[in-house]
Amino acid sequence: MRPKYKRIILKLSGEALAGDKGFGINQDVIDAIAVQVKEIVKLDVEVSIVVGGGNFWRGRSHEGMDRTTADYMGMLATVINSLALQDSLENIGIMTRVQTAIEMRQIAEPYIRRRAVRHLEKGRVVIFAAGTGNPYFSTDTTASLRAAEIEAEVILLAKKVDGVYDSDPVENPNAKKYEDLTYIEVLKKGLKVMDSTATSLCMDNKIPIIVFSLKNPENIKRVVLGEKIGTYVKEEDLC
Ligand code: UDP
Repeated sequence: MRPKYKRIILKLSGEALAGDKGFGINQDVIDAIAVQVKEIVKLDVEVSIVVGGGNFWRGRSHEGMDRTTADYMGMLATVINSLALQDSLENIGIMTRVQTAIEMRQIAEPYIRRRAVRHLEKGRVVIFAAGTGNPYFSTDTTASLRAAEIEAEVILLAKKVDGVYDSDPVENPNAKKYEDLTYIEVLKKGLKVMDSTATSLCMDNKIPIIVFSLKNPENIKRVVLGEKIGTYVKEEDLC
C-alpha cells in the first residue's frame, strides 16, 4: 500500500510517553510508539517528531515561578523525552537525529533546517527537541512551525482521546466527535485541539492537522495510509 503523505510531523504530547501514571517515561509505552514509527519509516515516509514535556513539567502550571524560567525548564523536559525516544527508536534499528532549539552540543545537534531536511531525505527520523527555543510557546506551536519550515504535508497530532469533541468526552458521555473541522471553527469554538498560536500558524500555512488516538497501535500507519480516523482540521474548501 502506498502512503498518502511523503513527509510528516508526528506530535506526541509528553503525557503520551508516560502511560497510566501520567508522569515520567514508561519504557513499554515509548517502545510501542517506536514500533509504530518504524512501520511508517518502512513505507518510505519521511518522519519528524516533536515531543512535548508535560509528563515532567509545564511552564504555565508553576505560578509562583518566573514564567520564562519555568518555560525553559519545560523545554529541557522535551529534551529528556526526545533522547528517550531516540534511544527506543535506535534500539529497533531506526536511524535518528535529535535537533535541539537550545544548543547543547554534547547531546544533540542544533536545529538547522536544511540539515534536518537532508536527514529526512536520507531516511532518518528527526526529533525536534527544546520546542521553539522560546518561552511563552508550546510544543504544538513547535510542530506547526517546523511543519511549515520543512514543508511537511500534515501534522499527526496523537492524543489520549480519539479525535476532537464538542465537550470533554471523559466528563460528558454525550460529547459529539467532529469528523472534520476548519481552523476557524477550532478558534471560534475554543476547541482544545492545539493552542490558538499553533492553530493560526497551521491556518496561515495551510497545514492540515489530524487528531487521533495512539491507543490502537496501528493508528499512525492507518492515518499515513489515508484511512479516515480521528478528526481532520483543515481549510474550508478541502472538507
Ligand atoms: N515550552 C516553551 N516553548 C516552546 C515549547 C515548550 O516554553 O517552544 C515549554 C512550556 O513551558 C511548556 C513545556 O515546555 O509547558 C512543555 O511543552 P508542552 O506543554 O507543549 O508539552 P505537552 O503538553 O505537549 O506535553
